[in-house]
Amino acid sequence: MSQSFHLFQLQKVDTRLDQIQQRINSILLEIENDARLQNAREQHHQAGEKLSQIQRELRKIEHEVENRRLKLEQSEANLYSGRIKVPKELQDLQNEVAFLKRSIAGLEDQQIEIMIQLEEAKNEYDQMQKFLLQVEAEVSQSQAGLMGEKTRLENDQQRLMIEKQAIISQISPHILAEYEKLRQKKQGIAVASVEDSSCSACGAGLTPAQCQSARSPSTIFYCPSCGRIIYAG
Ligand SMILES: [Zn+2]
Repeated sequence: MSQSFHLFQLQKVDTRLDQIQQRINSILLEIENDARLQNAREQHHQAGEKLSQIQRELRKIEHEVENRRLKLEQSEANLYSGRIKVPKELQDLQNEVAFLKRSIAGLEDQQIEIMIQLEEAKNEYDQMQKFLLQVEAEVSQSQAGLMGEKTRLENDQQRLMIEKQAIISQISPHILAEYEKLRQKKQGIAVASVEDSSCSACGAGLTPAQCQSARSPSTIFYCPSCGRIIYAG
């Protein structure tokens, strides 16, 4: 068998190995950055943030109502104690009591509104929690599929590496070195075949004499256009 034939076989194995490696890389990336999971986590996080913000607001308002109630109790105690005799002071105290009652009523209305918001936020958070669990289950199921594919690809990889070693043992080292150099320069494709009297890699037409040279078992023929090794079968 000619060196070109072995190089062509080697190219086929290397191309398959390149494809396998690319697929493994994209599987790893897919597993790492599953968009559905990131999205569900983000929505869950936002619902949680919203819920805590409303809880904080509610606590703040409850605290404020509590303070004003205490103040109201004190003011009313003073008002009905009989100790304050000056009409102006009594009037001020009455005004204060009225003001506190109004403001407490206003705060209580706000409190009810916030409690409704809290209820909604809680429901939303529960929904997001369920959604996240569901997505996590789905993702781990599809990742099990991806992991299975990765294992199969790794098995193929090992089988092809053994095949590659057998092919390499048939190729002289300096030709192999040239092949590797060409692979690096030519996007992984060092060896092309002849298809319809043209180079299968770059499409340049080959004369009958060039096709003849490519068929020669004793020499290596390079595509005059792209510089790749041509195997003519
Ligand atoms: Zn070419």
